[in-house]
Amino acid sequence: MSNTSALSGIGQDDLAKIMTLEQGKVLEEARGEVAYGAAYIEWFAEEAKRIYGDVLPSMSQDRRSLVIKQPIGVVGAITPWNFPVAMITRKVAPALAAGCSIVLKPATETPLSVLAIAELAQRAGVPSGMFNVIPGMNAVQIGEQLTGHSLVKKVTFTGSTRVGKILMAQAAQTVKRTSMELGGNAPVLVFDDADIDKAVDGALAAKFRNAGQTCICTNRILVQSAVYEEFLSKFTKKVQEFVIGDGLDKSSTMGPLITRTAVNGVSSLVEDALNKGAKLTTGTKPITDDSLESEVGFFYQPTVIRDADQSMRIAKEEVFGPVVPIFKFETDDDAIAMANDTEFGLAAYVFTKDQSRSWRVSEGLEYGMVGVNETAISSEVIPFGGVKESGQGREGSKYGLEDYLEMKYICLGDV
Ligand code: ADP
Repeated sequence: MSNTSALSGIGQDDLAKIMTLEQGKVLEEARGEVAYGAAYIEWFAEEAKRIYGDVLPSMSQDRRSLVIKQPIGVVGAITPWNFPVAMITRKVAPALAAGCSIVLKPATETPLSVLAIAELAQRAGVPSGMFNVIPGMNAVQIGEQLTGHSLVKKVTFTGSTRVGKILMAQAAQTVKRTSMELGGNAPVLVFDDADIDKAVDGALAAKFRNAGQTCICTNRILVQSAVYEEFLSKFTKKVQEFVIGDGLDKSSTMGPLITRTAVNGVSSLVEDALNKGAKLTTGTKPITDDSLESEVGFFYQPTVIRDADQSMRIAKEEVFGPVVPIFKFETDDDAIAMANDTEFGLAAYVFTKDQSRSWRVSEGLEYGMVGVNETAISSEVIPFGGVKESGQGREGSKYGLEDYLEMKYICLGDV
């Protein structure tokens, strides 16, 4: 009872407001993320009751063999700025459920949301020392401590593939377990039999959430030639409806990018594509002066690039912003080959009404997650994670707890 009263008066809206102010996403999205983040806490609190062991068939009369699951030990976690609440609860909740304490370094851009959650955890009765936050500007040194310390038994990271590789190499020195949720380059495949309106809405939602700054955002849209122009014109029309502005302003449907560097990164991808023959159907040309800067952040006009091809950087690199290139393909095999032509393998989306095609294409895609006629694929009950250079391990679902548990075989003799 006392814990409940300690939390009264602090709610979803307060956390959402902190998030919008420090990260930039519009308030409605921030509220959604708080609910999404909280869902992981509830899910893993329930899953803690289901950490089962095993009794194995015995190979001799006087022995019994069993397996128990134990907490892996202290967890070191490093998280990004794009989901300052959900990326924290996804790691803290399974760690605590497994019985591990966790030391977490939030992104330098977004420490406040994490500190607010830590405060709430303390008020809710999480024992002292179980959930620890180290905000700090010196990511490299903190990372070295977390990956090098002998007491830390597992490192979990969400962020860029570049940094993930550094952390894996560092963690290898003491053979720590690692979970890596790294970059993505999600393709949306739109086949000629698809419900085009549905495909437009799905691709749009998956592209522009958080101003295009999520690892499962639509990075590339591949459209079969017969429906290319129809898709392009419907998609462009909807993109033009976004209202860009301060995330706290109710009329805004898209906020700013996180930093000036992010704006420059997106600009340079657009510039490269235009130099290699692509064209804009809507949006902004590269901006090279200071006109994007404003009181509340760094804005980039939602931009659609047509006639994109594989020679462009945007075909292979992660686009962390509101820009989307649209490619044309002829056959199913071409589409699968184009979709797989990247080092990433996190999420992919397919739009088709043909059931056998949806099976064949889903199985051919080298991705950890595939949405068929659906792009809102994430929740606490599914295993979120990628293959190839998008990482290893899964977060959420009944599988998500395994990463925080160690298996011990016990042989009882002389029975
Ligand atoms: P992004 O490009 O999305 O900012 P990063 O991989 O650079 O992704 O950052 C994700 C997290 O990793 C942040 O918390 C950041 O501070 C941290 N980080 C960045 N570089 C390092 C490093 N060399 N060692 C440990 N942590 C790092």
